[in-house]
Amino acid sequence: MAASESLDPTPVVAGSAYRPRYIDIGINLADPIFRGLYHGKQRHPDDLSAVVSRAQEVGCSKLIITGSDFTSSRHALEIAREYPGTVYTTAGIHPCSSSIFSTSHKHVDTDGHTMPCDPDPSQPIPEDQEPDPEKTAKVIADLRQLIEDAQSSSPGALVAFGEFGLDYDRLHYCSRTIQLHSFAAQLDLVLALRPQLPLFLHSRAAHADFVGLLKAKFGERLERLKKGGVVHSFTGTVDEMRELMDLGLYIGTNGCSFKTADNCAVVRDIHLDRLMLETDGPWCEVRPSHEGWKYLVESKPPTPAPTPDPAAAEGTAQQQQQQQQQPPAKPAQKSKKPQKKEPEVPERWKSVKKEKWVEGAMIKGRNEPCMIERVAKIVAGIKGVSVEEVCEAAWKNTARVFDVDKET
Ligand SMILES: [Zn+2]
Repeated sequence: MAASESLDPTPVVAGSAYRPRYIDIGINLADPIFRGLYHGKQRHPDDLSAVVSRAQEVGCSKLIITGSDFTSSRHALEIAREYPGTVYTTAGIHPCSSSIFSTSHKHVDTDGHTMPCDPDPSQPIPEDQEPDPEKTAKVIADLRQLIEDAQSSSPGALVAFGEFGLDYDRLHYCSRTIQLHSFAAQLDLVLALRPQLPLFLHSRAAHADFVGLLKAKFGERLERLKKGGVVHSFTGTVDEMRELMDLGLYIGTNGCSFKTADNCAVVRDIHLDRLMLETDGPWCEVRPSHEGWKYLVESKPPTPAPTPDPAAAEGTAQQQQQQQQQPPAKPAQKSKKPQKKEPEVPERWKSVKKEKWVEGAMIKGRNEPCMIERVAKIVAGIKGVSVEEVCEAAWKNTARVFDVDKET
């Protein structure tokens, strides 16, 4: 507990001389949910600009929007054009969107939304689909065109290739065979681009194949990977994480990285010079059920770390005594606001249900980039270092790989 004690328990920004700065390396702002659109229904006004403002207010002054298919990659670029110097983008085909490479192309329609992170092992797409060479050539040519157009029409906006990779937790969107094909074909495109782009990678329950393909394309030490890359939303094991760091890759953490004690143990071992921060909104928020949540709870100074609770025991003993000896002398006196107060996590903005939208409110269940404060705070808590160390390390790492901060 000494570590958490030495951490300033006040809200991240309040009163401290250090003003945190964040780059959200993975935010799906092209998701229609940030326009108030939920599966085709307009539930509240477009509040994208409020989302960006809230991010800026907490010091999250740079956002890299994830492009995960053609539609989102194009929308992401449009948004980047609206916020030059603040919003940047990636372009690529996510493993879950990779059915477009297959013969039968049973694409799961999500109304333009990014796919929820939940696995659904009950309905995998059959492995009998074959990669379609003609479709592949077309997809890769179109993707190359999209990237080159972005580079000429919006110089500096597109900062990474991706997101792409492998996701064996979500075979209900795309089979393993087609995912491997999609990843390989896109890695070939990366190698063909001049100059190369850094990579925004996704790997879920697929580590061996993931690393195997990277090595097959870039060499055993990834020596042909010129600009580096990040494996975002990391939820793998310590050994997997170490292998990625050894290969020179960076590790992106978000709410999904703090779900369990095992997840948190992995985060503790991420080297500060390999760390990046993200929200992956609208998904991957930190929830009270997550192991990492406890690092957000603002313990009030008089609240000591877990005590054996002698007061409670004493209380019951005393009450028993009081019951025995008449007159029941004001037992209420004893209940001096017990410490069992609900843990409090400070909220800067109120969150409401989407149906109850009001100007300036966040939407319950829709994670957004201003919540990156929480990600940094949890990482700092887990690692037993200051928020400043986490923020500065992540900022520098991100600026080293992605071209988002020319002044640095
Ligand atoms: Zn991802």
